[in-house]
Amino acid sequence: MTCSKNYWDPFGRMTPLSKPPPPHIVIVGGGLAGLATASALVDRGLRITILESRPRLGGRASSFHDPATGELVDNCQHVSMACCTNLADFCRRVGIDSMLRRERELVFLDPDGRISRFRAGVGPAPFHLAGSFLAAKFLSAGDKLRVAFGLACLAAGGNERPGEPFADWLLRHRQSLRSINLFWAPVLVSALNERLEQMDVGHARKVFLDGFLRNRAGFQPEIPLVPLGELYGTRLESWLSDHDVAVRLTTGASVVELDDDGAVRGVVLRSGEELAADFVVLAVPFDRVLALIPEQQRGRVPALAHIGDLRSAPITGVHLWFDRPICPFAHVVTPGRLIQWVFNHTSIQGRTAPAAVNSRQGESVAGPERSPGEGQYLQVVISASYDLLALDKVAIRDAVRADLAALWPAARDAKLLRWWVVTEHGATFAVRPGVEILRPPQRTPIDGLFLAGDWTDTGWPATMEGAVRSGYLAAQGIMSVLDKPARLIRPGLKPGLLAGWLFGTGESRPVRRPTSHSAIPPADKSGSSSALSCEKRVPISGP
Ligand SMILES: Cc1cc2nc3c(=O)[nH]c(=O)nc-3n(C[C@H](O)[C@H](O)[C@H](O)COP(=O)(O)OP(=O)(O)OC[C@H]3O[C@@H](n4cnc5c(N)ncnc54)[C@H](O)[C@@H]3O)c2cc1C
Repeated sequence: MTCSKNYWDPFGRMTPLSKPPPPHIVIVGGGLAGLATASALVDRGLRITILESRPRLGGRASSFHDPATGELVDNCQHVSMACCTNLADFCRRVGIDSMLRRERELVFLDPDGRISRFRAGVGPAPFHLAGSFLAAKFLSAGDKLRVAFGLACLAAGGNERPGEPFADWLLRHRQSLRSINLFWAPVLVSALNERLEQMDVGHARKVFLDGFLRNRAGFQPEIPLVPLGELYGTRLESWLSDHDVAVRLTTGASVVELDDDGAVRGVVLRSGEELAADFVVLAVPFDRVLALIPEQQRGRVPALAHIGDLRSAPITGVHLWFDRPICPFAHVVTPGRLIQWVFNHTSIQGRTAPAAVNSRQGESVAGPERSPGEGQYLQVVISASYDLLALDKVAIRDAVRADLAALWPAARDAKLLRWWVVTEHGATFAVRPGVEILRPPQRTPIDGLFLAGDWTDTGWPATMEGAVRSGYLAAQGIMSVLDKPARLIRPGLKPGLLAGWLFGTGESRPVRRPTSHSAIPPADKSGSSSALSCEKRVPISGP
């Protein structure tokens, strides 16, 4: 690839006549992976353009405008953990870190209405949560012993079988159904967006090791104080513009153009316009990437050969505006229920009930005037929401309301002023057994072509942290091609002394086992191949 040209001067000497233009990096996709790539490359003498097909930045971590109230409503609550060091670095870099709030504790509200709080106690990692765990009210002493044994085996590693779903691993390691439903599932289903019955053991191990055992702070949730559309949308747009990054919204890329040597030459847009580029980073979801590479060239990227085997997992977010306070917590984990985590946006973001009353989703219906400041805005998250895909939105809303009323009787009498049910069918790639081998590295064998996205090989599950890491890795790759190597990836949280001695100092990484995909046990209709049958799962509560 040539990034500069030499010219013959009138005296026959080869010299640059005019300063060659700086290399042009075109990033296709304005989600967190694309944004992280751009943020890491600014101020390095490069020209950077982001192409985003939608009218806003942020990708899956974004908001939409409620047509009736004009408010920004998140597609779904996004939470990170203190162990997400690259996301934190990105937020600092682009100046939005003050818009996130670090929580010191996780509150569990069990099916019997008892509260258990998890916060770091006096002991060193990995025993900092032992006090909270021993005091937790939703597990019996026997279940706690089993969980402690399970955690020790999981942390030790080396005891998983190829293709084995985590639910089967749990049963093999003597975990009771109660501990599975009330402890393992609430933590892992939220963190990995997958059912235990079809979850990769290595990813489950990573969540507990890096999030809960290595460092005293790793488990602490970080919650945005503003809507995602502001956090990763408008604020990013102005930061990028201040740093001379060209952002072209509603501009879809159609295909990457290669020159006669098979190296990147540019991108053809859906409009037909051709955009010259020295490097192209495809920071799009996994099911969009192949279409952007010319068909006859796809074989040159063998790491994408099995990308069609990656599967998606859904998440459902339910937004409810009530006329009175319902939930006394800022956020609370609700194990053993359809609803998994409730976020109180009145407490976290100071948002209350809208003035307009609405009876049907997405429609504003005139109603009694309400003064802002009353009521409560709750957002409920249901990860791996496969069971909800067959239900209509009203049924989902009613099932969620029934669950809320079982926890807080005020929800029974409260008037629901407005609601949205948003199910993202392709919320994340599914962390099924053997998934790691399907994830390609960021650098491709095509000169100048890079990949980014939470689905590329980062060792992390489909999270904002994974997306940012992929962007940093793509940027690192570009800098090394330009002979200006830069270390952009941030290390994980430093393990405590004892934890480092027990588990090693490096971050945990799921094994990239060369599993033949035909060796992975066949899935049932929902993708499950586990011994933990559907009957044993927590049932959906109905209206
Ligand atoms: C409902 C939901 C809840 C979630 N909750 C959490 C959470 O709590 N914590 C967490 O860490 N993660 C969460 N995630 C996952 C997180 O949102 C993603 O991992 C992350 O945002 C992925 O970023 P990305 O840049 O890899 O991909 P995306 O965000 O999908 O970005 C890709 C971008 O490419 C654009 N694009 C596609 N094709 C083209 C084209 N041809 N031309 C131009 N642009 C194109 C798309 O419009 C999109 O903006 C959640 C996701 C969802 C959907």
